[in-house]
Amino acid sequence: MTDTEKINILLVDDKPANLLALESLLEQPDVGIIKATSGNEALGVLLEHNVALVLMDVQMPDMDGFETAELMRCNERTRSIPIIFVTAISKEQQHIFKGYETGAVDYLFKPVDPHILTSKVRVFLELHRQQLQIEKANRKLEAVIERLQESNKKILDQQRAVIEEERLKVLLQMAGATAHELNQPLTGLLGSVELLQMEQDNPEKVKAHIARIDTAGKRISEIVKKIQNLHQVDTQLAAAGADISMVNRPLIKILSVEDSDVEFRDIKTLVAASSNILLKRSTTLEDTLKLMKTDPVDIALVNYFLPDGTGLDLMRKMEAAAIDAPVIIITGKGDEMIAAQVIQAGAYDYLPKDQLNERNLFQAISNTLSKSQLKHEARIAIRKMAEMSVRDVLTGLYNRRYFFEALDREISRAGRTHSDIVLCMMDLDHFKRINDTMGHPAGDMVLSEFGRMLKDWIRQSDIPCRYGGEEFTILLADTDVQKATGVCDRLRNTLSQRIFTYNHTPFQITVSMGIASLTSLMHKTSENLIQAADDALYQAKNQGRNILVVYRPDSR
Ligand code: GH3
Ligand code: MG
Ligand code: MG
Repeated sequence: MTDTEKINILLVDDKPANLLALESLLEQPDVGIIKATSGNEALGVLLEHNVALVLMDVQMPDMDGFETAELMRCNERTRSIPIIFVTAISKEQQHIFKGYETGAVDYLFKPVDPHILTSKVRVFLELHRQQLQIEKANRKLEAVIERLQESNKKILDQQRAVIEEERLKVLLQMAGATAHELNQPLTGLLGSVELLQMEQDNPEKVKAHIARIDTAGKRISEIVKKIQNLHQVDTQLAAAGADISMVNRPLIKILSVEDSDVEFRDIKTLVAASSNILLKRSTTLEDTLKLMKTDPVDIALVNYFLPDGTGLDLMRKMEAAAIDAPVIIITGKGDEMIAAQVIQAGAYDYLPKDQLNERNLFQAISNTLSKSQLKHEARIAIRKMAEMSVRDVLTGLYNRRYFFEALDREISRAGRTHSDIVLCMMDLDHFKRINDTMGHPAGDMVLSEFGRMLKDWIRQSDIPCRYGGEEFTILLADTDVQKATGVCDRLRNTLSQRIFTYNHTPFQITVSMGIASLTSLMHKTSENLIQAADDALYQAKNQGRNILVVYRPDSR
């Protein structure tokens, strides 16, 4: 699902007139409205459509709103769809709602106040949109992890192929020995046949020769079977190793950590086969760390035993210094224990010295590069997901969830450091008119531009958020009301003079602001600070809009 696809709201009311009234209030280009006149019809609709929110009349004949909600809770598909109950029951009778207060449930009292209705609906739709974004990022992450696992499997398969190759060498040596072995029964057999021809008149001797021919024949047959088996293993292994090639990449910087001149020369000779490798060398652990800090490399090819430590020591020190270069360890012959240890400690691959040939080296390099690329992608996806969960998609500002977190954090910090916090709440004036006259995309453009202005306008330490549809907040820490008011009022003034254009049509927009500071409150809680800024904003709207009002404790 893309951002521009419609999100469905289901309206349930037994009176068609009520449905029409709600529909006219909620109509928006990116929202689909579905209507149902009974609980039963609503349940049917929910099974057929993806619905983000249900607005449900409580008093309905046959099945009332609460019963319908009960049935929704019993079905896996509809269980977590949020419901706003629309009811004529007075606020004094709220005890009736007991038991419905968990989960995503809200209430609206008849007659419905359009402002409250749209803001409640907006909050749920926003949550739904964010949920969809997170699900999308999650799916991407899963795909990256799957590729990472595939690459891991490939490396394991290739390591297995190398082990198989070793076995093949042993088998071939055995084959040499086998030819030698064959010689003996064959000579015996031929000798017995010759004697048989010479002594065919002596039945006793004939019997003995035939017995010897039989034994030699059996022996030969066993050896032939063995040779056939060898042949089979040989062809399988040749096929497994056939697709190994060096990847086509731009320049790869490889650091050979090798104190022995002879062994470094061997590596240099192998690497010379590829023109896209830049080979560097260091001989000690300390030099390696220094070098990698100043000039990052794509791969470190590390001899396990170094003059001032081991490959494991190097990997630990790299981790402590936050140096993130993939390591391939070169071990001595028969050092399987070391190989297992270094792989567990995070080495990308290992190569036994006696298998250090061109093919194995390039294969290890190629595997390491793809694995490190996948790790890098996974890391970016995880970071993006974390970032998305606190950002608003349209404006790039922090979202409402982050705002509440940040507010609590800043309030406790202000308590500790005895400093002040100023909260500025902003609401664009007559924003609905822009959507109505020029269309939703024009409205979106204004929101996104205003988001950019906010970011440009404020200090790094201030926290700008999109609080709701066309409502924004700035949390200004370590400042006082005068300074904050000055900054915000200049922003208000700049916006009021800015000319926007959409489809070649120029237009203007203004913003109303309410400011409150923590020190002006009796009880310094986040709820009170929001309430105070909201009160001031409400006054700004009442006083004609496009102004900034500062909250005064006695002004309520
Ligand atoms: P007031 O001066 O009293 O604040 O009037 P207003 O028109 O700005 O306020 P109202 O709350 O009546 O309307 C807000 C509108 O903002 C209604 C809603 O459709 C629109 N809106 C909310 N979120 C978005 C959005 O993401 N994009 C667009 N284009 N419009 C949005
Ligand atoms: Mg508003
Ligand atoms: Mg507004």
